[in-house]
Amino acid sequence: MSWIFLPGGSQRGDLQIRGGAELQLNARPAGADCAAHRLRGHYTILKPMAAPSANPDTGTDTIVAISTPPGRGGIGIVRLSGPLSASVAVQLVRLRQPLEHGRARLAAVLDEDGGVDAGRIDEALVTFFGAPHSYTAEDLVEIAAHGSPVVLELLLNRALGLGARLAEPGEFTQRAFLSGRLDLTQAEAVRDLIEAQTLTQARQAASQMGGALSRRVQPAKQALVELVALLEAGIDFAEDDIDVTPQAEIARRIAEIIPPLDALAASFTRGRIVHDGLTLAIVGRPNAGKSSLFNCLVERDRAIVTAAPGTTRDTVSERISLDGIPLELVDTAGLREGLSESLEEAEQLGIVRSREAMADAALVVVVLDATQPLNEEERRLLASVAGRPALVAINKCDLAPATPVSHECGVLPNVATSALTGEGIPALRERILTLATGGAAAEPGILTSLRHRNAIVTALSALSDAAQANANSIPHEMILLDLYRALWALDSLTGQTTPDDILALIFSTFCIGK
Ligand code: GDP
Repeated sequence: MSWIFLPGGSQRGDLQIRGGAELQLNARPAGADCAAHRLRGHYTILKPMAAPSANPDTGTDTIVAISTPPGRGGIGIVRLSGPLSASVAVQLVRLRQPLEHGRARLAAVLDEDGGVDAGRIDEALVTFFGAPHSYTAEDLVEIAAHGSPVVLELLLNRALGLGARLAEPGEFTQRAFLSGRLDLTQAEAVRDLIEAQTLTQARQAASQMGGALSRRVQPAKQALVELVALLEAGIDFAEDDIDVTPQAEIARRIAEIIPPLDALAASFTRGRIVHDGLTLAIVGRPNAGKSSLFNCLVERDRAIVTAAPGTTRDTVSERISLDGIPLELVDTAGLREGLSESLEEAEQLGIVRSREAMADAALVVVVLDATQPLNEEERRLLASVAGRPALVAINKCDLAPATPVSHECGVLPNVATSALTGEGIPALRERILTLATGGAAAEPGILTSLRHRNAIVTALSALSDAAQANANSIPHEMILLDLYRALWALDSLTGQTTPDDILALIFSTFCIGK
């Protein structure tokens, strides 16, 4: 928490008046460094200068872990990172040639005691990467043995006995981040790549790992840092004849920073569904062809299809990848509880089940039967999804024209399909995709995580506060607080901006002291 001393009566934005003259800055990130600044006029400001930083200590201990998944496989890798990596590794194996950066060496994996007489229990390829040219930027060794859990456990336990420590989950990537080799978005992309379920997800993660998101944020951040430097220079070096930046100039600069960040925030619509996927419920009366359409989309027989209505007795779901977007398809039951029921009752039950499934689904496909006139329940069903992301498949179009039914679909987009002949299925996929993505096209460097989106939204809101403050002719010291808030938010994506960065820019841009 920091305190700002202003002439009495001042108030704005996130600042609250305390005791008439002291203003309290809320929501200041913990750990932010404060530098007392003498300002022109009568007041003193305790100005946060830097975002909270990650612990720069990259750790001097050596960590070890089995890096391949649990279980048996052709190859299993034990990875070491830290100053003792090489010295521990050479005691685990018998090398024919000394370790050399980036070279794989054939070696015998030694049994239990590792002494000169130790027996060979496996063969391995040992690769050494010298600091800073490794994944973690530390000395790093990978021992690729056969994927026997017994051998890998032996290597791990012996490494622990020789002074290495068991790595925490994600600690190799954490070290890469702490050493500055990866920024936070890249480190997160490593996790996303590993967890990717579709090729599109993997490509998205790979592009983020390559720094696509950071590169997209960077120009806006650079423009923001320049504006901060401009205002700081006007305040801190007033005696050096630095002109005070005109209000219009500040407004213009802020207005330039906002649109690219807005576009980035908007990319979250597609990014979120690429990352998390969506649930799509297929609903409608029994026998309309829901299961058949479900199977067409899944492209294999997952749900049971029969000519008797109401045979899909329970909800069936399947995960598919539609143009790389993970979709959980839910085929709702056209449930018929007993033989005594009339067909009408069965249909109603089917619709009730559909309603339940629809409640949780992000997207809905209503299946109508082109050979049947709409019943009351179906009309109500259509009305209930009218305001939601939904579309209508008018099925069995091989038996009857879809047009009469399509007139009843109102605002909902409709597609004529035949689950039997496959007609209209590509169009159905296309429509589902448009519905899922909101029409947003694939682009590089999109936001896929809520954390990233929140950072951009925070930056935008702080910039909007700064623009407002500037329009109200609020002192530059106060505008700077908003700009720093925006900068911290962007820092949380691309890495920290230090006071030195800003000072360097001030000194390189202005002829201070001349
Ligand atoms: P559900 O109860 O809505 O899941 O309907 P089903 O998928 O089980 O289909 C009911 C019956 O309609 C089955 O005999 C299907 O073979 C048939 N059917 C489904 N779709 C079509 C279609 O597009 N054309 C024709 N001719 N028959 C279809």
